[in-house]
Amino acid sequence: MRAQFKRLRNEFPDYWNQPVPPGGRQNSSLLIVGLAPGLHGANRTGKPFTGDASGELLFSVLEAVGIRAEVEITNAVKCLPPKNLPNAREVNNCQRFLIEDLQDRSVILALGGVAHKAVITAFGLRQKNFVFGHERVHDIDGVVLVDSYHCSRYNTQTGRLTEPMFRSVVELAAGHAGLISP
Ligand code: URA
Repeated sequence: MRAQFKRLRNEFPDYWNQPVPPGGRQNSSLLIVGLAPGLHGANRTGKPFTGDASGELLFSVLEAVGIRAEVEITNAVKCLPPKNLPNAREVNNCQRFLIEDLQDRSVILALGGVAHKAVITAFGLRQKNFVFGHERVHDIDGVVLVDSYHCSRYNTQTGRLTEPMFRSVVELAAGHAGLISP
């Protein structure tokens, strides 16, 4: 990973080019877990989802729901993955950081199947008992895990995820976290 950051520093000297820590309200009851920093988004700004198309949708929906300042946001993978594509190894390498992020959380909103699986693994649970599905709500020993399709441009352009669908799942998670009335 060091070699990659060295390369990035040469190519994009003004970018953050380091592991991206969680952002937003620390210790919020609602933690949003994304996938990984994008090259010109979080890897540039140093803040999850900040500066790319996924973040535009995420932040506009959080704003519309009135909880933008209330949530904490992290990624399953903390560093820009090779070729901008996270794989199982990257997720594994970052597992211990995700475990820290998940401490004392009452509600988790997982964006996409990879984030969902990373959360299930972080809790030491079996994937087959917690199958990913959009708007699915899982009870993990009192912790609520809400799943959503990832708010990526690919998912919105293909129609897999629409803005109203995304707003609805964010409201579902915010309701469970007591940030809005359910
Ligand atoms: N930016 C992030 O920080 N995470 C994602 O999952 C997508 C874009």
